[in-house]
Amino acid sequence: GSTIDVAWARRFIALATADVLAHRVELSELDREIGDGDHGENLARGFTAADAAVQASEATTVGGILKLVATTLMSTVGGAAGPLYGTAFLRAAKVSDVADVDAAGVHALLEAALGGIVARGKANVGDKTMVDAWTPAVAAASEVAAAGGSAADALAAAARAAGEGAEATIPLVALKGRASYLGERSAGHKDPGAASTALLLDAAARAAA
Ligand code: ADP
Ligand code: MG
Ligand code: MG
Repeated sequence: GSTIDVAWARRFIALATADVLAHRVELSELDREIGDGDHGENLARGFTAADAAVQASEATTVGGILKLVATTLMSTVGGAAGPLYGTAFLRAAKVSDVADVDAAGVHALLEAALGGIVARGKANVGDKTMVDAWTPAVAAASEVAAAGGSAADALAAAARAAGEGAEATIPLVALKGRASYLGERSAGHKDPGAASTALLLDAAARAAA
């Protein structure tokens, strides 16, 4: 539809959780190449808990659901990704505490999420982190909103851009997070957090389709 609502938020988290569980080994294998091999497990633990909390919640706004996800991820994921995704969902919740979110609202929500990640992690574009997937996603949603597209269109464009952004991390040398300890040897591998960002935004888009 032209807007997304609390039912979308519940579907998004249910799909995201199923996708994280389906790709947990793959995400941890990416992290084994350039980190400590726990990214898939970290997110599987966090999203399983978040989905249980969300499906039981009586929240009536998109932001109400996203805030519950934020607090659950912060207390269950740990590592670098827990505080980063926790802050992303918390900032997104603050700008979406309404019943209906349109394409401009989707852009605002994604921009707030990225702002939270950057405030916490201080990564720049090109540092080979999840910022490299979130940044093109925000730009893509902005274009759809400016062109008068729907919330679903904005999410679809954001998901596509995040996927391309994640692929584009492969040749990069990591400058933030554990992967940066490898220096030049981090090149040639996809960043796990960029990969999980693409996966989550794909779930968000499918929940709106
Ligand atoms: P840990 O590295 O503590 O084991 P995870 O494996 O769960 O945590 O998450 C690793 C991911 O976190 C990386 O692939 C990267 O995308 C992201 N990340 C790490 N540090 C930063 C940072 N400073 N800014 C943005 N993202 C980061
Ligand atoms: Mg790790
Ligand atoms: Mg770890």
